[in-house]
Parts: sequence; C-alpha cells; structure tokens
Amino acid sequence: MFAAMPAPVNDPNHGFCRDCLTLQRDLSKRCVQCGSPRLARHPELYSLHIAHIDCDAFYASVEKRDNPDLKDKPLIIGGGKRGVVSTACYIARIHGVRSAMPMFKALEACPQAVVIPPNMEKYVRVGREVRAMMQALTPLVEPLSIDEAFLDLAGTERLHGRPPALVLAQFALDVERQIGITVSAGLSYCKFLAKVASDFRKPRGLSVIGEAEAVGFLAEQPVTLIWGVGKAFAAVLERDGIRMIGQLQKLERNELMRRYGTMGDRLFHLSRGMDQRVVHADQEAKSVSAETTFDTDLASAADLVPILRALSEKVSARLKKAGIAGRTVVLKLKTQDFKLRTRNRQLSDPTRLADRIFQTGMQLLEKETDGTKFRLIGIGVSDLSDDARADPPDLVDTQSRKRAMAEGAMDALRDKFGRHAVETGYTFGKRRNAHPPEHLDD
Ligand SMILES: [Mg+2]
Repeated sequence: MFAAMPAPVNDPNHGFCRDCLTLQRDLSKRCVQCGSPRLARHPELYSLHIAHIDCDAFYASVEKRDNPDLKDKPLIIGGGKRGVVSTACYIARIHGVRSAMPMFKALEACPQAVVIPPNMEKYVRVGREVRAMMQALTPLVEPLSIDEAFLDLAGTERLHGRPPALVLAQFALDVERQIGITVSAGLSYCKFLAKVASDFRKPRGLSVIGEAEAVGFLAEQPVTLIWGVGKAFAAVLERDGIRMIGQLQKLERNELMRRYGTMGDRLFHLSRGMDQRVVHADQEAKSVSAETTFDTDLASAADLVPILRALSEKVSARLKKAGIAGRTVVLKLKTQDFKLRTRNRQLSDPTRLADRIFQTGMQLLEKETDGTKFRLIGIGVSDLSDDARADPPDLVDTQSRKRAMAEGAMDALRDKFGRHAVETGYTFGKRRNAHPPEHLDD
C-alpha cells in the first residue's frame, strides 16, 4: 500500500497521519483518510534520523495491560511502606504523584491509588520484547535502560521503504498492537535533542526537533534540560544568575570553561544544540548488581553482613549464568537521609565468585559501619568481561581457592535442587528483611 504512494519530500505542509500513516498534503487539522487528529508535520520531518524511544510509564502500563480492572484507576508501582514510587501511571500523575517520591507522600497526594510492588522479572521480559522490535529496525540500538533506547536510523530507508519518521510511527503502532503498551518517540539530528523530544509530549508522543529551530528552542528552556545538569549544578549556575539555556548561549566557550571546567565545555556545545555523540550498538550491561531496601534502617555490621552475603550470591549467580565476570566491586549504601555512598575496589583479575565479591564488599563496608543508619545496601561488579580469565587459581591464598571450590560445589547443588537448597552460615534464615530492589522509570 505504501510503496504505491509518492515519496515524502521535505515540505512543511507535507506530513502524515500517525494512526493510518497516510501522507497529508494540506494543512487540515485531521487526517484526510481516517479523520485522526494525530498528525506529524515538520519542515525537517523526512531528513532526521536519530531517535530516542521511551515506553510510557512502563511498569504501570505493563500492569494495566495485564489487569484491565486497573485501566481507569490511579496506579503506583512501588515497594513496601518505606519504599519510593518506581512508576506512577498518568492518572496518578494528575494527582501529583511522581517517580522517586516517598510512598507515604504519594499516598497523601492520591489516597485512592492502587499500589502494586514491582515485578521486575515481568518488566525485563516485556522490555526485551520491545528491544527486539527496535533491533528489527536498525542494528544501531543503544539501550539506556530497560524501557528506552537511542536508535540511529540513517541508511535504513531502502530497507524499510520509508524514511525514519514513518518507521518510528509504524513502530509505535506495532508496539501498541503487539505488546499492548505505548511508547513516545523523539526524532532529531543528535542524541541530546532526540531524548529531549521524546519527553516532550508523553504519552504516545512523536516529537521532532530540527536543526533550524534547535538554538531558538533551547534558548527558552531551563538549564536542567542539559544532560548532566542536576539539582546541585543547577544551583551553582543559579548563583551565577543563569537559569535558562539562552543565557548560556551568550557566553563564550573559554568563559564557560574558565568558570565550570569540563562541564563548561559541555554547556557550551549542548546549549547550542551541538552534540557529536554517536549511537553505539551496545547490548552488554555495564555492571551487574543487586540491592535491597530495609523495612527499618540498619547500622550494625551484624545486620548488614548477612544481607551483603545474600546479595553477593545473587550477583554471582547472574554473572555465572551470563558467562561474564567483573573486575571492580562496587558497594552502594543509602543513608537514612537518602545520601548515596558508593565505594569501589578494583581486583587483580575479574571475578564471578560470590565469595570474592562478598569479601571485597566486606572490606569496603567495614569503613562505613560507623554508626550511620542505612536504608539500602547494594553490591555489584563493573568492568565486565567474559569469564575466560576470571578467578585464576590463587597460589598464594590457599583459603580463597578452597572457598572457590566449595562455591563450585554449592552451585552444582543449587542447579540440581534450586537456589535455596544451600545456604551459607551468613545467609541462613536471614532473608526476611529484604525488599525487591528499587527501580525508577518514567
Ligand atoms: Mg519510560
């Protein structure tokens, strides 16, 4: 059907309908074919190829898909009475509920909300289905998280028989029909603005930011739109009287670098819509970790160590399953007042052993157990590689070799009888205090 149509050309009056994909040749407000008001029009619509796709309120959308009774109710995905909001559906957002908000605040804002604990296994499964559909569009898919990715669609027009903008619109419809959730997409000439665009008209958005409008558009946006400008850095800029990106556009590169170091360089380029980063096809995880939030804050090593052990085993199990190993062990702690502490140590060789991860984590934890109360602990490894060179026999430390052998034996038993068949002295009977890990998503 589509091949028979004349090729789309760059013409401000020449858009398409996002519901039936029919080309539009005039400026009417509704599709000439199906009457839908969801029309895409932009002077650069058919020349842009960097996209950012983000699922809308992902966890909540998956739960609504699986339980239609929830469809018209405010829904919050989050864990435990001490937990935070992972995802709020759009109805809950109307009531002021936001991601990362403490649960008690969210329920103050929206007492009638239905709260469901996250089912990460399910979300990972659905996220993989969406990603597989992205990878059918282009090999250049760079995932940012479970439910969002950059795509470079340059050079795919011949494969798909249509330009990237239409490929994206078709993709959004396909995800809705085949998976039952919605996505928003942003289309631009660089990653920075593609991501900004996808966030622009959620849910079910398709937004375009072209080269011609980039500088003018950015001028009117707050500095926090710039990747890397968080609350703390925004406060620094605010002290200098800078709130809007337009103010940054008036400053020379040298001046910005003199004031803000390497960050000044980024401010200079991104404020002017200059972003040279390419889309990397990178399906590999950058780290493997596990974490848990406590029901009540914990301070003593006696309480924290068994949890650290259980988490180390979880991380190790994932590494072994994936056939990978990590060389840097990372300990993460969140204090009672939500301050994040991360500590890491590089090992001589990559590891996939629970015991090595745990022992290293213990050394890092020792320095942190100074009476501070923690609400969360996590452990993980980064610097990932395949496990070919992991954990070479350590001739010096015979103890560690014994532990490695014991761990191999335990793994074999667990494979045969299930994960809880063998518990170490550290974890025995200590599993009750833990929650599923906190995840945030928009
Ligand atoms: Mg999302």
